[in-house]
Amino acid sequence: MRVIAIDGPAGAGKSTIAKRLASRVGLDYLDTGAMYRAITFKVLREGLDPAGSEVAAAALSASIEMDGVSVIVDGIDATAAIRSPDVTSQVSIVAANSQVREALRAQQRKWAERMGGGVLEGRDIGTVVFPDAVMKVFLTASPTVRAERRVAELGGDLKEIEAQIRLRDELDSSRSDSPLRHDDDYIFLDTTEMDIDEVVDQLHREYVKRTN
Ligand code: C5P
Repeated sequence: MRVIAIDGPAGAGKSTIAKRLASRVGLDYLDTGAMYRAITFKVLREGLDPAGSEVAAAALSASIEMDGVSVIVDGIDATAAIRSPDVTSQVSIVAANSQVREALRAQQRKWAERMGGGVLEGRDIGTVVFPDAVMKVFLTASPTVRAERRVAELGGDLKEIEAQIRLRDELDSSRSDSPLRHDDDYIFLDTTEMDIDEVVDQLHREYVKRTN
């Protein structure tokens, strides 16, 4: 089973790059951030405290269906809602819950087994979910450039988005369970001054080297 792990902070270009790389190498793609967002959507919809203990039960009982385009949570189409400012501002709090992480990791591993491998993007894919991934990539860029990319994609106030991104970086990097980090077996790419095609070409070459 071949797994490519793509980790990094918000707005580093992970989704676009992971999708393009997946189609080039003929693997399926999974956005694990969307799964944490899906649980957060459910938590907020049910009026639960994102930092509270009921969050674990909500995660364990949640049905998340993802087909690469839409995200259905307990039968409700949450494709747009999982990207809302409300979900975005709470997701790192929900994602710090170890039981939530355990439940979602199990689903991510099952997905990859079912698909016979895949390209998974997130925060802990190469460090925790698939430590034996054939290729691990850490994508980052300066917070300002990441905020500019988010604003270009979804709109909003640049200063506010940058502050949010910095806060999410801080929460995701400082939590005790599987914080955002990378080690020596990662390919580390700062995409601040790179264009997407350049990154995808470079990663494709690396993948071919590792698998031939
Ligand atoms: O990638 P995206 O920005 O959609 O991820 C939303 C949030 O989900 C992250 O800020 C992080 O808190 C959480 N996440 C995580 N582990 C992953 C993927 C996402 O903790 N593998």
